[in-house]
Amino acid sequence: MGFLNTILEVVFPAYCVSCGKSGLDFCVKCLTESPSAERESAKWIFPLFDYRHPPIKKAVWLLKYKGKKRLANIFAAVMYGRILEELSDLRMLENFKDAILIPIPLSGKRSRERGFNQAELICKELMKIEKSNLRHGVDVNFTLESDVLIKPKDTVHQAHIENRTARLKNIVGSFAVKNTEKLKNGNIILIDDVTTTGATLSEARKILKQSGARKIIAFTVAH
Ligand SMILES: [Zn+2]
Repeated sequence: MGFLNTILEVVFPAYCVSCGKSGLDFCVKCLTESPSAERESAKWIFPLFDYRHPPIKKAVWLLKYKGKKRLANIFAAVMYGRILEELSDLRMLENFKDAILIPIPLSGKRSRERGFNQAELICKELMKIEKSNLRHGVDVNFTLESDVLIKPKDTVHQAHIENRTARLKNIVGSFAVKNTEKLKNGNIILIDDVTTTGATLSEARKILKQSGARKIIAFTVAH
């Protein structure tokens, strides 16, 4: 597979979604110049970038709908740094360690249509980064659990619903939890691409709490 990836990168060279320069799908310069998420979200939700910034919006769209999976790796690299930052406090204040990464799931139907879950891709990239980071002596221990939080029923896409109350109503009851033994007293990091009202993350957090998780925080690419 690694060989195939190398071939694909040669066949399909990457151009920055923002400045068009060849190299990465989102170059480091444009990425670091992208504005951070500043709109208020719940204290336990940590979004990286402002979704209103056109290159960010475009990159998320390319990842989700155009299968530009290499963007998951780039977003994960930024997210990883942010997770370490937050965890250094949380470890001390809340005894938050040995985090379990849980991607916000797609419904079975949507997942089949798309062929992949972008949040899960980001999680997989975070795991790769963490493995390569161990040699730097960073004391983080992640596990990835993609089969704990599931979405049995298809809901109307949250982006198509205007107000917060309607979004909450749409998402309530749409998640289920399997393999709860994996959650027992666990510290959870929920991962998603975009948060808007936080309704999806809140619903996921609620059901994970009810199923025995200890602490739950969330990171998203954008808000
Ligand atoms: Zn660029």
